[in-house]
Amino acid sequence: MTPLASSGLVIGCRLTVWTMRIDNEPYPAQRHLLACLGESEDGVRCQEHSGERETFEDAKRWAAGHTRLHPDHRRFSQLSELAWVMVPDEEPE
Ligand SMILES: [Zn+2]
Repeated sequence: MTPLASSGLVIGCRLTVWTMRIDNEPYPAQRHLLACLGESEDGVRCQEHSGERETFEDAKRWAAGHTRLHPDHRRFSQLSELAWVMVPDEEPE
């Protein structure tokens, strides 16, 4: 008998496979932020961003308004907080 088999950690237990996916349940703390990657003519990075928004659509609306004011500022980076959930293939006992 190997030390692992004699430990009792595996014997009689089935391994549960867990899958991680985006949680579709309401999550009040979701946040989305878009930051402008535009630069001025002298190469200085624009420092403007949307601030934390509750929806990505709201952050995109900010970006559209920013580009309307600064037509050459068209690239943005995205930071988002999303809820994820671990789902077992079978509920553990
Ligand atoms: Zn900008």
